[in-house]
Amino acid sequence: MKCNPALLRLTKPAVKSRLLRQLLIPPLIILLMLGFGVVAYLISENNGIRTLSENGERQLELHARTVESEISKYTYLPSLLELEGSVSKLLLQPDGADRQFVNEYLEGMKRRSRSRAIYILDTSGRVQATSNWRDADSFLGEDLSFRPYFQDAVRGKPGRFYGIGSTTGEAGYYLSHGLEEHGKIIGVAVIKVRLDTLEERWQRARLEAFVSDENGIIILSSDPERRLKSLQPLTPQVKERLARSLQYYWWPLNELQPLAREPLGDGVEKLTFAVNSETEPTEQKDVTYLSQTRRLADTPWNFTLLTPLQDLRRESMVQGALVAFAFALLTILGIAWNERRKVLATRLAAREALEEANSQLERRITERTVDLRASNERLKGQIRERRHAEQTLRQAQDELVQAGKLAAIGQMSTSIAHELNQPLAALRTLSGNTVRFLERGAIDVASTNLRTMNELIDRMGRITASLRSFARRGDDGGQASLCKAVDACQQLLAARLASSGLRVHRDFDEQRLAIDQTRLEQILANLISNALDATRDQERPTLWLEGELLGDKYRLQVRDNGHGIDDETRKHLFEPFFTTKPGEQGLGLGLTLSASLAAAAKGSLNVEHPVAGGSAFVLLLPLVTPPTDTAPLP
Ligand code: ADP
Repeated sequence: MKCNPALLRLTKPAVKSRLLRQLLIPPLIILLMLGFGVVAYLISENNGIRTLSENGERQLELHARTVESEISKYTYLPSLLELEGSVSKLLLQPDGADRQFVNEYLEGMKRRSRSRAIYILDTSGRVQATSNWRDADSFLGEDLSFRPYFQDAVRGKPGRFYGIGSTTGEAGYYLSHGLEEHGKIIGVAVIKVRLDTLEERWQRARLEAFVSDENGIIILSSDPERRLKSLQPLTPQVKERLARSLQYYWWPLNELQPLAREPLGDGVEKLTFAVNSETEPTEQKDVTYLSQTRRLADTPWNFTLLTPLQDLRRESMVQGALVAFAFALLTILGIAWNERRKVLATRLAAREALEEANSQLERRITERTVDLRASNERLKGQIRERRHAEQTLRQAQDELVQAGKLAAIGQMSTSIAHELNQPLAALRTLSGNTVRFLERGAIDVASTNLRTMNELIDRMGRITASLRSFARRGDDGGQASLCKAVDACQQLLAARLASSGLRVHRDFDEQRLAIDQTRLEQILANLISNALDATRDQERPTLWLEGELLGDKYRLQVRDNGHGIDDETRKHLFEPFFTTKPGEQGLGLGLTLSASLAAAAKGSLNVEHPVAGGSAFVLLLPLVTPPTDTAPLP
């Protein structure tokens, strides 16, 4: 299957952008995760603050009213003293005997009202009678004209004042009222109450709250640490004024100094304080509150409710973390889904490609099968043609063998005629002579002549016999004697051998070869005849017949020292009708026929070109009985 190269070939910019994406995506996801977490945290915190402030609003109202009612329940008390005649008398006649009576009256009143002290001042601000007349730190005779509550009351205004007592050093809420007699102020009645119960109540209810006065000083606080601290920075002038009025006695009036302050609305803000850790006092931690402030009725004071935001913060952080986690989870799921989608798409593409390749393959196989069938048919046709040609060739070969034989006979007919004519002429002469010798009665000479004539006739018989055997069509399955065959050839060519002076060296053993005797003689006659032609111009024409065993075959080399075979002749040597011999001398069939006869006997005929010169024809023929100890093939 062939892969689509376009799928494999990723372009450089594609690889780059992929790498960039892989590098950028993780930090981007982390950033988005943090972003979502922070946004979720802020939203959750804002919602929480809104809910808290709505709840706080109700709490603020409730507790502010409690504070208001706590304060207002004493407001009528100083004015009640106007009704007491002994008080007016004392103020009008300070030297009278009423002081003790008034002291005791005030003492009883204080007890019943559960206030800290009730006392009467004359218009100069000096204490004329007091509920704590028995105590060592009694106010009696003290000049309190510097107190603002006196100054307000002496002018006919109700005095409201929170301060620290200059005699007792105890913080308290002072309410004063100008006592009138016939429309004229004759003195001032003052009641001092402690508002500690409010603080205790807040602490019991685990409420964080404080009340700040007109100077911004915290006068009541659930946390004693914050008490008498200023909410705002105090200017030196204000500090001096407060010190002069001894309102807070000699208290340092440090600033509360929140670490952070964030206004959220009218009377609502977020405050962060540093508080000492309960377990580790040296360690400080920040606590953030939702601060809600409301003005207390009939006073210049403010009531502030503090709601801690730690729980809300913790909750918001959890929500932020949850959102970030959910985002991360969704992103991971998204990436996983995307990856899975890609894998599926790749698999689908691969499957489609495979199917496409398969169908292509099938198409090709079908095409090839058709081609193969066609070429098979063609081959079959060619085989048929070849067989036919082979048959034709074999026929032609057989005919050629026969034709060759005839040609050889034709060629040899001159020498045969010469061979036969010579004895015939001799016979005629001898027979004529013999007749004359017999007429003369020379019986001895006649019988000698007759013996010579017999010999000549024998020789002629041998010549015709070998000619007959040469012309006869041979059998493929015959056997031949090598020595006999060579003898027969030498006999056949005796005249030419004698006339040429060719010396024949025989260096071979008698062997039984698996070839028809006549065919072997025919091959050898051709080779020797060619050697005779090739050595015609040689001074010492020589022919070597050398044999050796070669496995189950016998190798006979027919070598001469003739003119040899040139390169051009070598190319066409075994071709039928190729000859270099002039005129009627050569038919060009000798080697072709000899080679085909050797091949028919499962042997071969080849040519070698000795370096020393001449030619060497190698005839390889199977033995009839191969030797048991066969020599290895070279
Ligand atoms: P022909 O003898 O009729 O020419 P052959 O087939 O026997 O046909 O020989 C073909 C040719 O091979 C010859 O014409 C000759 O040129 C060459 N040839 C054959 N035998 C020899 C040899 N012993 N030496 C040199 N040439 C040879």
